[in-house]
Amino acid sequence: MTPLPPGLHSETRTLMGWGRTNPVTAQVVQPSSVEQLQELVRGASPRSLIARGLGRSYGDAAQLKDGTVIELPAFDRIELDAASATVTAGAGVSLDQILRLIVPAGFFLPVTPGTRNVTVGGAIAADVHGKNHHVDGSFGNHVQKLLLVDGGGTLRELTPSGRGNFNEAEYFWATVGGMGLTGVIVEATFSLIPITTSLISVDTTRHQDLESLMAAMVEADAKYRYSVAWVDSLDPKGRGVLTCGDHARLEQLSKAQQADPLHYDPKALASTPPFLPGGLLNKLTVRAFNEAWYRKAPKHREGELQAIAPFFHPLDGVKDWNRIYGPAGFLQYQFAVPNEAAHLVPRTLEALRQVGAPSFLTVLKRFGPSNPAPMSFPIPGWTLAADVPAAVPGLLEALDQLDEAISIAGGRLYLAKDSRQSSSMYKSSHHRNQEWNKTQEKLDPLQKFSSCMSRRACLLYY
Ligand SMILES: Cc1cc2nc3c(=O)[nH]c(=O)nc-3n(C[C@H](O)[C@H](O)[C@H](O)COP(=O)(O)OP(=O)(O)OC[C@H]3O[C@@H](n4cnc5c(N)ncnc54)[C@H](O)[C@@H]3O)c2cc1C
Repeated sequence: MTPLPPGLHSETRTLMGWGRTNPVTAQVVQPSSVEQLQELVRGASPRSLIARGLGRSYGDAAQLKDGTVIELPAFDRIELDAASATVTAGAGVSLDQILRLIVPAGFFLPVTPGTRNVTVGGAIAADVHGKNHHVDGSFGNHVQKLLLVDGGGTLRELTPSGRGNFNEAEYFWATVGGMGLTGVIVEATFSLIPITTSLISVDTTRHQDLESLMAAMVEADAKYRYSVAWVDSLDPKGRGVLTCGDHARLEQLSKAQQADPLHYDPKALASTPPFLPGGLLNKLTVRAFNEAWYRKAPKHREGELQAIAPFFHPLDGVKDWNRIYGPAGFLQYQFAVPNEAAHLVPRTLEALRQVGAPSFLTVLKRFGPSNPAPMSFPIPGWTLAADVPAAVPGLLEALDQLDEAISIAGGRLYLAKDSRQSSSMYKSSHHRNQEWNKTQEKLDPLQKFSSCMSRRACLLYY
């Protein structure tokens, strides 16, 4: 048990990821200052610490069995600098809190994942991506500066180009996507997108098969900032709905909307029905939901104005939706593959159908160029994400086979969603893991940081 500095209290809690698999017990602490956090880290035993944000990663990345898990609600500063279009925020601040401040002031996040209930620390540690990766890259691309308490308890100011004392670029990029294993991020400054309205102009098209859907997505790369496709995972042809959008300009708004063009109310009900099948989740309910979801989408619609919440965070309107999978929980299988391995998209859908894993949430996105972070997930090409109940017989064996094909094709699984990949899969697919390990060891030579994920998939040498 890690000794706690005076005044820092702990609470024993059961922790798990969003998929609700693999619960563990840990001692949770919430330091109130950088100094207290530094003291905690300096006094900690090896392999005893990991940071946690809002626990929105699906697997076991933000937990450590019998360890000390650090939450940062006290690191809650948010400061908008409108002149430089940047925000500086404590690592415990959520993207939800930031949006409430910046949207009415005429700014938007450079990258937002499919939920706004993630912290700044979690967004950097997983280097999250959004619907605009093909244009804007991932979250780390927009971070101008971050403050990190490393494994020695030293507070480091890191920038992407690494100027100044203790300011090596390799430390910055090892922390981006480093899953909390280089230390605890306490604050970050990142750039924002200026907007003139809070609405998104959305074009929607329905596609009867996966081939036409994927062709339309490639075409959409050059035309739209945001694009995402929902795929009917139970349809052998892989029909789907492509939604593309851009921030709406003032002249696209009605007179009434122009009176308050930066209005932001994330609590307002989505104009679409809740993104969920009703009742118990099984193949029949998922089939019925998928049919209704596909039919509800227009064959072709242009210029529909949607608010930020329904466009970017449709699931946030539904409380505790991750509980519909029952006590066994669920997992999200998300991989990225290069364009040449696009065939792995239909192959994965087919494998999930064969094993009988019903997924109502199957999402396909395009990725643009990677950033310099060795552990960052996105590589140019395709990413498919499918939520499936964890208890489906034969699922894990089917996924192991897919893993191999993905790794051979130069692809990888997303650590923020992973709860099951083996260490051999991780090592064969994360080609820069040794380079990252060397930097990670410099930041944490006494091996203070560890997580259930780093142990399971052997992210660290020790
Ligand atoms: C509905 C839903 C939709 C999602 N959509 C997307 C998406 O579109 N794109 C995408 O990229 N991701 C997506 N995600 C995943 C999510 O964005 C990431 O898992 C994110 O890291 C969660 O942030 P968190 O604050 O909850 O962090 P946690 O889940 O608590 O932690 C995630 C990792 O960050 C580390 N960490 C947290 N805080 C710190 C800190 N202060 N210092 C150092 N390390 C830290 C943890 O140790 C852990 O390794 C989605 C998740 C959900 C539930």
